Amino acid sequence: MSTLPVVTRRATLPPAHLADLDLAARREAMAALGEPAYRAGQVSRHYFGRLVRDPAAMTDLPAASRQRIADALLPPLLTSLRDAACDAGATRKALWRLYDGSLVESVLMGYADRVTACVSSQAGCGMGCPFCATGQAGLTRNLSTAEIVDQVVYLAGMAAAQLPRRLSHVVFMGMGEPLANYDRVVAAVRRLVAPPPEGLGLSRRRVTVSTVGLVPAMHRLAEEDLAVTLALSLHAPDDDLRDELVPVNQRWKVSEVLRAAWDYAERTGRRVSIEYAMIRDVNDQPWRADLLGKLLAGKLAHVNLIPLNPTPGSRWDASPPSVEREFVRRLRAAGVATTVRDTRGRDIDGACGQLAASGRHEREV
Ligand code: SAH
Ligand code: SF4
Repeated sequence: MSTLPVVTRRATLPPAHLADLDLAARREAMAALGEPAYRAGQVSRHYFGRLVRDPAAMTDLPAASRQRIADALLPPLLTSLRDAACDAGATRKALWRLYDGSLVESVLMGYADRVTACVSSQAGCGMGCPFCATGQAGLTRNLSTAEIVDQVVYLAGMAAAQLPRRLSHVVFMGMGEPLANYDRVVAAVRRLVAPPPEGLGLSRRRVTVSTVGLVPAMHRLAEEDLAVTLALSLHAPDDDLRDELVPVNQRWKVSEVLRAAWDYAERTGRRVSIEYAMIRDVNDQPWRADLLGKLLAGKLAHVNLIPLNPTPGSRWDASPPSVEREFVRRLRAAGVATTVRDTRGRDIDGACGQLAASGRHEREV
């Protein structure tokens, strides 16, 4: 059977890259190359400001320095294997090969009021949620900070060139569990929100980290001075079902994970987004809507219902629209703000949060 990706990769990270470093460390790196420290600002302005990574385009650098600086600080991290468009070009999914052959995906979504990049934080995921395509193949490795940031910079470039619009939002809802790759994800978020030339200068509120509910890491994130938006993938209001849908619940129960979410909301002042995939006859019963409403009423939270995107071979399907409507009605009746996520990218096999890196096909060629 060759249906599962063969994992033969070393779990080592790629070469260091500009985006792994803060501005002070970039200055030191320049000095180590025998270049003046201010080159760090120049190169950073190209990469983060102009979304340019080709040394030939950095004409304000002496020709003799360009390639040397690029070799040391701009190693190619992502090789584009495929770039698929749908929704009349408003949604684009990119499949990347990393330096060690691992595959990850990112999605760019253009809406009327925003342009969102959905990025991966790990190659694969070790959390094993049975309805999730990424979870089925297990974890290959963590991504480096720069591998995460570079996805955003590429998508920002794509948005500028093709939409043409400015990237406004980033969601960590691609492949992987961001809080299982904590230090690198937090460093990546710092790059995204740092003002140029240090970073991309995105608004903190417009960066969303989505977690399956790793409670100690949620508490830790609350203590960073980041105040990004937190999304918690709950999917069930009761432990019996959540133990099955989100196996990490066997370690941290619904009550603990919600306590961590409220702690985050209190410390950051940010409303937590409760993600809930609507799975037909599994978690979509009226009594579960009522229980969820009771758990969330009066809290700094809103619910984002996600119509399940059935994964190949899965026994689960999306809830019918009438069931979804009733679920929404009951949550709202309980005073809980509720939205239904649109299903962007369905026809390119995976919107944000439902990425499989159909790499088995890619790797066979
Ligand atoms: N690991 C993190 C972030 C990546 S998954 C997390 O689980 O939160 C991003 C979102 O997509 C999560 O809310 C996840 O539960 C959801 N998701 C995964 N597979 C899905 C599917 N097949 N249909 C709908 N949503 C899915
Ligand atoms: Fe991992 Fe999130 Fe998928 Fe669960 S839903 S397997 S945590 S990527």
